[in-house]
Amino acid sequence: MERVSVDDPDRRMGPAAEKRPLSGALGTTELAVNYYELAPGDTFGFGYHRHPDQEELFYVLEGVATFETEDGDVDVAAGEAVRFGPGEWQLGHNEGEDRVVALAVGAPRDASETEMLRPCPDCGGRTEQAVGMTDDREALVTTCLDCGAETGRFT
Ligand SMILES: [Zn+2]
Repeated sequence: MERVSVDDPDRRMGPAAEKRPLSGALGTTELAVNYYELAPGDTFGFGYHRHPDQEELFYVLEGVATFETEDGDVDVAAGEAVRFGPGEWQLGHNEGEDRVVALAVGAPRDASETEMLRPCPDCGGRTEQAVGMTDDREALVTTCLDCGAETGRFT
């Protein structure tokens, strides 16, 4: 048995006001578990993405998360959960005025290569992109795989 507070793990850099991985502190073997808080305008992920072999569930504790999905936008309110199967495209946003608090659970814990799309101003439209860390490890940057442009910087 392991117990953890969401305040224990360090925040991860990214597009969410708070992303705190609970998996490490809990020593999970099969599950990826992340606590999120999204300020208005924040997103869970870096872009519209899919995990080829990972199933993912989001349980919303506060606010309303709006997920872009293959079936259109889906609002998921506090007390509701949404599940994406392996290979399903999705990105959750906070389009409201209140903070979104949610717990995300994925399995298997270590997802293989994620495909991710973001708008690239240079290419026009959304392109496939990768996330990398700056040399000084102070930020994560998203880069267009077509033209190499940096499209986002997250601390
Ligand atoms: Zn580009």
